[in-house]
Amino acid sequence: MPLKPFDIPGASNLIGGAWIRGNATIQVTNPSDGERLTTIARGDVADVDAAVTAAQAARDGDWGRMTALDRGRVLTKIGQAVLEQIDTLARIEAMDVGKPLSQARADAVALARYMEFYGGAADKITGETIPYLNGYTVYTLREAHGVTGHIIPWNYPMQIIGRSVGAALAMGNACVLKPAEDACLTALAFAAIAMQAGLPDGALNVVTGLGSEAGAALAAHPGVQHMSFTGSVRTGEAIQAAAAKNVIPVTLELGGKSPQLVFDDADLDRALPFLVNAGIQNAGQTCSASSRILVQRGVYDQVRDRMAEAYRGLKVGPAMDDLHVGPLISARQKEIVEGFLARGDDLAIAAQGQIMTDAPGHYVRPTLFVDVPPDHALARDEIFGPVQVIIPFEDEAEALRIANGTDYGLVASVWTRDGGRQMRLAKALRSGQVFINNYGAGGGVELPFGGVGKSGHGREKGFEALYGFSTLKTVAAWHG
Ligand code: ADP
Repeated sequence: MPLKPFDIPGASNLIGGAWIRGNATIQVTNPSDGERLTTIARGDVADVDAAVTAAQAARDGDWGRMTALDRGRVLTKIGQAVLEQIDTLARIEAMDVGKPLSQARADAVALARYMEFYGGAADKITGETIPYLNGYTVYTLREAHGVTGHIIPWNYPMQIIGRSVGAALAMGNACVLKPAEDACLTALAFAAIAMQAGLPDGALNVVTGLGSEAGAALAAHPGVQHMSFTGSVRTGEAIQAAAAKNVIPVTLELGGKSPQLVFDDADLDRALPFLVNAGIQNAGQTCSASSRILVQRGVYDQVRDRMAEAYRGLKVGPAMDDLHVGPLISARQKEIVEGFLARGDDLAIAAQGQIMTDAPGHYVRPTLFVDVPPDHALARDEIFGPVQVIIPFEDEAEALRIANGTDYGLVASVWTRDGGRQMRLAKALRSGQVFINNYGAGGGVELPFGGVGKSGHGREKGFEALYGFSTLKTVAAWHG
């Protein structure tokens, strides 16, 4: 069934409030069955240039002149409009990226929530006055960077638009968004909703296309004053290098190998669903997926057996069937994950989930490896598929050493009833977020998020993002 999100003309970019047909197109297929859905524009250097020019015009025009209060009102309205379209957005996302319908729905709800949160926050960011020499009054102003570029991946398009574009708009930036070539439809639908809800022309521009073309052009454009990127380490390095040429700040969120540490005294009944869901949600294609489960010897057999039982019950199928796990995004991603499974040939598999369909989608069986040495490739490299490894440990010191032993540091969680251990590990874990007796805390839009090490730098989500998406000016007035 061809898909036409809202009233978006096919294969177009949104530039300066107008849908402009691309010179070339990219075909969009449904990862659940390989069927053709629609086409999108294959944006090029000229499209990106036009989008940056339109964003600058918005900064110089209505959008740039709007008060923080009015910007907030626009974002809040967009949030309400998104809420009214949740089911449509969820269906579009499910068909475009293969995400099980209820998970796609949760993303749409989060997108609305981001708009509401940043709508409310827009006029809450203030500067300060600074005591200084006699005869001076000194204060700071928080100002927009200007034009911000947003290159986002295919795994959580709506959530990442919410957290990066939402925060950037709240501070008065004008945005150019380049969604991933495999996942553009909700970005286009969101832009259409935002325009209908009253976002001024040019405040948000969307150029679809390939990373090596539209993405590279945006990252290198001299008219962009801040870049925000979520995706692979390799592409993050390229984007940071491009941004360095223009000496602009970048926010990079590059994934992880996030551990959950389960101690002998943990509440296992509470922990079990978190241990498994954090690995298989969105078919494991989640930057903050928990792909390493570190378990103390005393409960090791129990955790292994209970996780294995849960894995045996996991059902994989088309997004619209809304099972536990959908297809992977693409044939390429399936090949990558199968490559990792092959590298686990020397490891023991405790259990696998079941594929419930014959459809020619990009399905893989969720797989739980056990007794995995911490230096094995499957315990160190990001897989981005429904694969988890269980690693045994003896004591707190060993758990910490293993947890901190990868290049990444995005999310970690600690399952223990020992308050002292909770506090010690919260400090010692090398990670942008630490959860105690939970994982993800429901994804909270309020919670600053980002990594250390190869997981990236800069923070999105929460109020903290508003500092990243703005710059500080110090004003020193001498009045005698
Ligand atoms: P993946 O390899 O899983 O697709 P990427 O990190 O390459 O992950 O993709 C994330 C986003 O980065 C996508 O929007 C993609 O189009 C974009 N991208 C890929 N390569 C580049 C590049 N060289 N410059 C800018 N953006 C890129």
